[in-house]
Amino acid sequence: MDTVAFTNWLTGIALLDALQRDRVVRELAAVDVIAGSDSALDDPTPARTVPNTIDATPDADLLSKIGRFRIASFGCPHCGRGAVRPWGKAGGKPRYRCTVCRKTFNPLTGTPLAGLHHPDRWRDQAQALIAGETVAHAAKRCKVAYTTAFRWRHRFLSALTLDQPQHLSGIVEADETFILESFKGKRSDLPRASRTRGGTATKRGLSAEQIPVIVARDRTGATIDAVLPRLDAASISAVLGRVITRQAELCCDGGKAITAFARRARVTFHVLPAPGGPKPEAPDLHINNVNAYHGRLKEWLARFHGVATKNLPSYLSWRRTIEVLSNASTPDAWIMGAAGLGPYQQRSL
Ligand SMILES: [Zn+2]
Repeated sequence: MDTVAFTNWLTGIALLDALQRDRVVRELAAVDVIAGSDSALDDPTPARTVPNTIDATPDADLLSKIGRFRIASFGCPHCGRGAVRPWGKAGGKPRYRCTVCRKTFNPLTGTPLAGLHHPDRWRDQAQALIAGETVAHAAKRCKVAYTTAFRWRHRFLSALTLDQPQHLSGIVEADETFILESFKGKRSDLPRASRTRGGTATKRGLSAEQIPVIVARDRTGATIDAVLPRLDAASISAVLGRVITRQAELCCDGGKAITAFARRARVTFHVLPAPGGPKPEAPDLHINNVNAYHGRLKEWLARFHGVATKNLPSYLSWRRTIEVLSNASTPDAWIMGAAGLGPYQQRSL
């Protein structure tokens, strides 16, 4: 805007009523949020300059980034529509307003982090997840009570259970493993006397005390895991049916359930007894990556001295996120994951 137009615009301020003035203040604050500008006076024109969609330019401010990414992915958290505009700030967070349902929200509305106290300690909590710390260590690091640390852990992990790749393609290794069932934290309705912490199964191999877990991993490292209600083709199909592409080549150990699934899904499959090296004529066909993954998962789980079965999906997600983030495993990446923007979810943006 040139100087004359700007002077005229300023003169108009005197003619505004209280409601109009309030609107201008909101709009200017919103422009400031969107542009990441230090001063709202950089562009004092109200409504015209406020875009209806949120600029996707990365921003140093984590909450703004979460807000933009969530709006781009999910739209308004109240009605799911995409017509959202900035609406100033509240409680130190950017605020947005949906032009359809007219409700306001912030970047964390509808996420497991909404309403969680002490945001200044979330990076410590994220660091505890990166390090794979026990609840006691995390409580100490975050300076919160043990019960709070436990609650935070599960709040931070809950959105990550949905963060799985959309597809596995090329050579896909899939194999099941068994995690010892635990009734930790469950004080009533125990089907049998509690074991001491950790413990070993009283029966070797597959028994009612071993929870089957399927892990499938393609050669890009994309990994899907799940606790299976039963080790059968239907349970495996529920997990892998929609994610393994028809063109994939499934490598497995020839177990009854996985081969039945592959036949039913009409996926080409190769039987590779584990453990064992690939055949010289087909060096790429093996299940060594997925078995190594099982090994890392179990070694990492051992520190928790038994995981409550109902929480096992959270622990699988925790381990999967450590693996997928790898060198990019920063506290900010984990906070984004906790807000529903995990590494796989971000890739599909
Ligand atoms: Zn809405």
